[in-house]
This record gives sequence, structure tokens and C-alpha cells, in this order.
Amino acid sequence: MHLTTEEIIRFAMIDQINEETVALAKKVNSHIAVCDACLEKVQAYQAVQEALARTKVRPGGDGDKEIDR
Ligand SMILES: [Zn+2]
Repeated sequence: MHLTTEEIIRFAMIDQINEETVALAKKVNSHIAVCDACLEKVQAYQAVQEALARTKVRPGGDGDKEIDR
């Protein structure tokens, strides 16, 4: 039984630790340890999340600037 896309997205978007996210993280981690297909999906969604996080408003920024890093 593979992870659902919803589970993968929720896992990629985890920004706090609570009972639900810990349970989800355990489930996802134990599955991607043995399933390359789902590992790739998780990594793809995490890359998207990181890209989104990087474009969020920065303190002191005026919204439109990209910081090269
Ligand atoms: Zn899988």
C-alpha cells in the first residue's frame, strides 16, 4: 500500500510537531525507507515546499526581491 498524495503533501508541509504530524512522519518515513517511488514523490513535494518557503515575505524585504543564495 503506497502513500497517498494527500499524505505526502501533508508530510511535506509539516511545520509543527504534534501527535498527528509525528504519526504521519513515522508512517511516511518507514514507507519511503523501502519504496523508491514514494521517496521520489516526497522529495519532489519537499522541494516545492522549500521553493515556496523561500519566496515568502522576508522581514525587511519589500516583497519583490529575490535573494541569491
Ligand atoms: Zn510507495
